[in-house]
Amino acid sequence: MASLKLKNVCKKYTGGMTAVSDFNLDVDDKEFLVLVGPSGCGKSTTLRMIAGLEEITQGELYIDDKLVNEIEARDRDVAIVFQNYALYPEMTVFDNMAFGLKMQKIYKDEIEKRVYEAAKILDMNDFLYKKPNILSSDKQQKVAIGRAIVRQPKIFLMDELLSNLDAHLRVQMRTEIGRIHRMLQKTFIYGTHDQAEAMAMGTRVVVMRDGIIQQIDTPQGLYEKPRNMFVAGFIGSPQMNFITAKVKKKGNEIYLIFGENAIKLPPAKAKRLEDGYVDKEVVLGIRPENLHNEEAFLALMPESVLEAKIDIAEMLGADTFLYMRINDMNFTARVNSRTRVMAGDTIKIALDVNKIHLFDIETENAILH
Ligand code: ADP
Repeated sequence: MASLKLKNVCKKYTGGMTAVSDFNLDVDDKEFLVLVGPSGCGKSTTLRMIAGLEEITQGELYIDDKLVNEIEARDRDVAIVFQNYALYPEMTVFDNMAFGLKMQKIYKDEIEKRVYEAAKILDMNDFLYKKPNILSSDKQQKVAIGRAIVRQPKIFLMDELLSNLDAHLRVQMRTEIGRIHRMLQKTFIYGTHDQAEAMAMGTRVVVMRDGIIQQIDTPQGLYEKPRNMFVAGFIGSPQMNFITAKVKKKGNEIYLIFGENAIKLPPAKAKRLEDGYVDKEVVLGIRPENLHNEEAFLALMPESVLEAKIDIAEMLGADTFLYMRINDMNFTARVNSRTRVMAGDTIKIALDVNKIHLFDIETENAILH
């Protein structure tokens, strides 16, 4: 078992900088939880507090229901792996992995057993007697993970683990770390600034901003039901389009008005706005893949067809990204690559009104999805 609980945890660095505020989180046994947010949002600080490398200013940290605030790092059964793996270049991979155990005066047979087991999990058997500097950077990173595995911790913490790797190795290692997690059956907490990495790896993701949790959800939950504009804008690439619109009621219908455009909302969404938002401004959010230029779609949703001027058309193989202006506002659409649209064209494009998100203009919190 290795569950983890953070209760009202705060970290204030000397000098007055509050890096983490009122952090509440329950991590289940064997979960793969990701902390994600822009650089400086407090991911490392949180991981280091869990590891015991940073003192907790306020609040409580429990591992398996035991309060560990005052427990030394080495007695917490938690291992942290950093992007900066700092391997010993003169030692073999085997000795790099065994080093910590030797320091702990663990028996040679036990050390061998643990290193071989770790090498098997990491698929590194063929490299055990090589020096790390002849290995590729992803394999060196695996050696660093191996050093943590042989300690047999209850919880693995990983801080920007893949940031040093080239783009293609990063993507490969995502799957590899997922596989290692499944083999080990241990609790993983993984910090990254990369939303795509977070979405691909986490069973649950904690989105952080300025030391404050914005939302804790599954990747799908974050994508489909972002709680506020920050999460909506941070998760997903290209970013969600945001535009300020005015809510108008005409007869029984609710419209969103911006520029020359009036978009009729479907009844389910309209109902929510009738309550307090009529004649007010809101922020409309629409993901690039929910803007469509196919004839069939334009015919299907005539009341959400807009005119767009194309600035750039980026052909990416499977998709084409259209960077465009609608009433002088910038929009991005992700459309089928068969589309033949060029920079300078003026096209018709329809919003899928069923996929609209709306946000309160003042609080930036979601009104509806
Ligand atoms: P992240 O890992 O998300 O990039 P950090 O946890 O490293 O964020 O940093 C959170 C905030 O705390 C940042 O503003 C950073 O400058 C500050 N910070 C981090 N470490 C220290 C420290 N040792 N002393 C003072 N401020 C720090």
